[in-house]
Amino acid sequence: MQSQDPSAQSLIDLGKRYWLPVYRPRDVVLDHGKGARVWDTQGRDYIDFGAGIAVNALGHQDPDLLDALTTQAHKLWHTSNVFYSEPPLHLAEELVTASGFAERVYLCNSGTEANEAAIKLVRKWAASQGREADKRVIVTFRGSFHGRTLAAVTATAQPKYQEGYEPLPGGFRYLDFNDVGALESAFALGDVAAVMLEPVQGEGGVLPAAPGFIKRVRELCDQYGALMVLDEIQCGMGRTGSLFAYVQDQATPDIVTLAKALGCGFPIGAMLVGPKAAEIMQFGAHGTTFGGNPLAAAVARVALRKLSSPEVLGNVQHQAQALRDGLARINASLDVFDEVRGRGLMLGAVLNDAHKGKAGAVLDHAAAHGLLLLQAGPDVLRFVPALNISDADIAEGLQRLEAALRSYLAT
Ligand SMILES: *Cc1c(COP(=O)(O)O)cnc(C)c1O
Repeated sequence: MQSQDPSAQSLIDLGKRYWLPVYRPRDVVLDHGKGARVWDTQGRDYIDFGAGIAVNALGHQDPDLLDALTTQAHKLWHTSNVFYSEPPLHLAEELVTASGFAERVYLCNSGTEANEAAIKLVRKWAASQGREADKRVIVTFRGSFHGRTLAAVTATAQPKYQEGYEPLPGGFRYLDFNDVGALESAFALGDVAAVMLEPVQGEGGVLPAAPGFIKRVRELCDQYGALMVLDEIQCGMGRTGSLFAYVQDQATPDIVTLAKALGCGFPIGAMLVGPKAAEIMQFGAHGTTFGGNPLAAAVARVALRKLSSPEVLGNVQHQAQALRDGLARINASLDVFDEVRGRGLMLGAVLNDAHKGKAGAVLDHAAAHGLLLLQAGPDVLRFVPALNISDADIAEGLQRLEAALRSYLAT
């Protein structure tokens, strides 16, 4: 919908010609960023309310991240897991300390890989207890998103991600999110080895666990001898206002997976494992070539330190309120949302009946008005800006959103 200069259009044409067409990006070619702003190849600026899908949690070109990356780049890029290097050693220690529950860390390259490791660990843990293969069921929830490998996409209880990939691996059971009764019935079957969930569902529509739900998951896991696996790949690393989201649910997990903001834009994932399962996977049980890469780990150490700082976590609460207030103001004049939900700087504005299915159209108008925005399904606008975003950028982004919504409503 935007007029492109010939060079941007010829770049877009390369994507259309050569990429496996599994994505449908907006017709914008981004060139560079600074803080919560990004510029395209034509020099147009955008306020970034998407942060690369909740990844760039310290915005673009954070000076400390840049320094960590370039310093490490001049020392050592890769060692494989056959030799030690310093950054992943310290990162593992710092993640364990920050978590307050974990004893060991497995470093990998993405969220999917972290979840794949968690699924395999659950299975090995159950096996180590002498449970037959049909007594190693992993419960997940409708609307969840856990990644795209065959096991992770099977954990992802959404048919649209699974269709055509059958046969899927067995041993998963899907329940409605926040349905305690269904959970109790599922456990009563006596075959559950783990429950895996996002404290705030991201891709599924920015839907937080109901108050008390995760605590109840914990109780049932304890009662029946199952592991609680929390996927904090999107909601972790400070996004909800605490370094780990589960802290707000007053329940201790057995496994937590992280990625996205862990590297603030440099690919890295991690699985944190508590005392029940930390010794289950031994030499040879799992592995990765790039996991624990010194470049990624050096960046993640700085990301972890900054994202757990009181300044950043305080800003999350502050800007979350500003964003909620702004969205309420916009809605009071334009009447487009049913509700705004989420936690911290992970917010979803649910389009009302008159605008159901139109999130994609709103995003087109947003881009045309200098705002990078995400959706979470067809009905929800998703706001996941950098956690250190400024008052001015939130205000400007809200202004651009209002202009975008007005132009959407005029079509
Ligand atoms: C993004 C995401 C994943 C998958 O992470 P990738 O790095 O894309 O593999 C898994 N779980 C949740 C909750 C996510 O948001």
